[in-house]
This record gives sequence, structure tokens and C-alpha cells, in this order.
Amino acid sequence: DHGLSEADPEVRAIINKEKERQFKSLELIASENFTSRAVMEAVGSCLTNKYSEGLPGKRYYGGNEYIDELEILCQKRALAAFHLDENKWGVNVQPLSGSPANFEVYTAILNPHDRIMGLDLPHGGHLSHGFMTPKRRVSGTSIYFESMPYRLDESIGLVDYDMLEKTATLFRPKLIICGASAYPRDFDYPRMRKIADAVGAFLMMDMAHISGLVAASVVADPFEYCDIVTTTTHKSLRGPRGGMIFFKKDPVLGVDLESAINNAVFPGLQGGPHNHTIGGLAVCLQHAQSPEFKAYQNQVVSNCRALARRLVELGYTLVSGGSDNHLVLVDLRPLGIDGARVEKILDMASITLNKNSVPGDKSALVPGGIRIGSPAMTTRGFTEKEFTAIADFIHEGVQITIEAKGLASGSKVQEFLKFVSSPDFPLTDKVSN
Ligand code: PLP
Repeated sequence: DHGLSEADPEVRAIINKEKERQFKSLELIASENFTSRAVMEAVGSCLTNKYSEGLPGKRYYGGNEYIDELEILCQKRALAAFHLDENKWGVNVQPLSGSPANFEVYTAILNPHDRIMGLDLPHGGHLSHGFMTPKRRVSGTSIYFESMPYRLDESIGLVDYDMLEKTATLFRPKLIICGASAYPRDFDYPRMRKIADAVGAFLMMDMAHISGLVAASVVADPFEYCDIVTTTTHKSLRGPRGGMIFFKKDPVLGVDLESAINNAVFPGLQGGPHNHTIGGLAVCLQHAQSPEFKAYQNQVVSNCRALARRLVELGYTLVSGGSDNHLVLVDLRPLGIDGARVEKILDMASITLNKNSVPGDKSALVPGGIRIGSPAMTTRGFTEKEFTAIADFIHEGVQITIEAKGLASGSKVQEFLKFVSSPDFPLTDKVSN
């Protein structure tokens, strides 16, 4: 049995290149992070060899005594990391990732074509919250369920709760989804709870982006108000790639969420759990209870604020004017450029971030903004000082993009030609003769 370098040098070389790319660039994608060596050790372990369909104590395969021990430990740590009472909340740690976790919730509590409301994708929501365009039902969620997204109040960049309330009263959704992929502020959970109660809907929070911040109590706690909370495990939480679903143990709207959700995960939509991921997740969730983790999350938020502050100083327009969490959304449209070009130029400068639509955008392919996140570089020890410097680097990239766009559009050369063709230009006559 050989190690990777010997067994497959080709794959080893690609991994080495990717590792170098990760460590030689400023990683500012808000949904990414660097997980720990301990988590990676668990993920790269023999746990990947085992089949264990079912739940601890109720498996469809033999040989699961240690896998049961691991999954129970992971569940306990998940509840502890989010400060939950085991009598009131349960968790399923088997979802393969964030999108499957969300679809499993929908499968558990909805019938096909039931109505849902999530934040619209161009306003910061996630595909799996029901995204569709006037022409196409893009996400599986909008194919199998009737989706009526809610949106931001574009003038202030915050969720338009009044409009959500009005629309929900008419649309009567069975599920309202809080949570986003590009929203720099907390959700108003008490308000969303009130709206959900008024129309008899379940309230779910997809805290994928902010789960690390929630565990460290540096943002509002969705568990106080929601019936179901889903998350990915690889973003601010800094674990392996995976997903979790937390559910209230008492029935909600007559539904036993525990059995409905567990059955939707398996056998509803998945087969054998990825035990290596569950092992890595257990490691991450223990760390998530430590004082170091809390300090890290506080730093994530302070760094993001420092970044936002400097960008505002430099004259940038931020959606909602700033940030309460780990990301800022910069609206580049006042500068006459788009996020796609800036992403490309910054990529060439080893600064990795992503183009992002901002409220009012016409095109999702050439969106008017960029999203910048602080979790990954905070893991690498950056503080406010370095994040202020990052804002300056980004500014430089934006200036270059503006210059390059002017040059590429030909407008500079056109101006120049106008000048050389003018009667004031001494060579004109000679050339035309
Ligand atoms: N939910 C939110 C809010 C997300 O931002 C994402 C991913 O970016 C997901 C769900 C989906 O997670 P995954 O990519 O693991 O399916």
C-alpha cells in the first residue's frame, strides 16, 4: 500500500498546485475557510470505508458499533456547540452538504407544489431557497415547489419585511426561509416568526454562512425563533464539507419534525452517510466550543468591519452601508464597472473573491458587485490592520479595472484619433495628401 506521491504522482501534483494556490493568494471568498489538520486527518481516515445506512442503533449494515459511537458523539457536540437543550432540539448530521440538507427539509415538511418563500437570489439568497427566473425554474426547489421569493428594500439594502408580510398574507406559504449567501446583516427573526405565525408557516433558517458566528454568539441566535435550522459545515464553522439539520423535538404545526426529517435524509434522499465527514465534523464541533473559537469569530467580525470602514473611506458604496457579520457586498455600479471584470483582475493579482449580484442588477452573468469575506484570512491570523491593507489592494485592482475597461472599450484611442484628425494636428494634411 503506497502513499499518494508513489501511487499517483499526477493527482499528487495537482493537489500540490492547489495547496500552493490556496496559500499564496488572499482568500476572500465569504463561503470558504481553511479547516484544521485534525479535521483533515479525520476526513482522510478509514471512516470512509464504512456503510452505515440508518441512524445509530438502527443500521442496515453490521459492524457499526464505532460508527454509532462517532455519530452520537457528533450529534451531542452539535447540540452543545449551538447551546441547545437535548430535550428540545435534535440534529441530523448526515446531510452531504447544504443544498441536500435544505431539500431534505422541504421533502420532510412539504408536499409537491406547496408554497415557499425565501430571499431572492439576486438579492442575496441561495439557489436552494427556490430561485427561478421569469423564463426558467432554475433550482430543484422551484421545480418541485411553488416559490415566491421576497426581496430587499433596494433603497436601504435590508430585507423588506413589510413587503414580505403583505406578500405572505396573499401567497400563504407553508414555509418561510431566513438566511442568505450574500447578506451582510442579521435577519430580524422575531419579525419573521410573527409573519410565519400569522400565515401558519414553518420558519426555517439556513445559517450556512454564519453558523460559526452563531456558535460563538457574535450574531443573533436563530434557534430562539425558528422551527428548523440548516447549515453547511465548511464555511465560517470551519469544518469539513457537509451539512446538518437541527429540528425542534416537539411537533410543529402537527408535524413530528424529528421523524419527518430523519426519514427525508434516509431513505428519502440519501443512502450511506459519509462517516469520514461526520468524523471531521465531530472534531470541528468540539473546537467550536472553545474560547479560541469564540475569539476567532469575534476577530472575523472585527476584520470585516475594518474592511468595510476602509472601503467606505475610499468612497465605495456597500449594500446596506456596512456589515454586521463576515462579509461585505460592494456595489461597483457607481464606478461604471462590473464585478466580473474586477474579479478577473484581482484573480491575476492573487486576490480571490467573487462577483456578486447587487439589488437592482439586470444581469446575473455580469453582476454589478463583489462579495468579500473575512473568515479564511482571519484563520490565517489576519487582524484589522491586514484587512485595511486588503481594502487598499482591492481599491488598486478596481482602479486598474477602470483604466483597463477604458482602454479595452477603444474610447481612449477614439479620443486620440479625434485629436490627430483635427485641423490643429500638423500631420493631417500630409497624411491625407
Ligand atoms: N445555503 C446557503 C445560504 C449557502 O450560501 C450555500 C452555499 O454557498 C448553500 C446553502 C449550499 O451549500 P452546498 O454548496 O454545500 O450545497
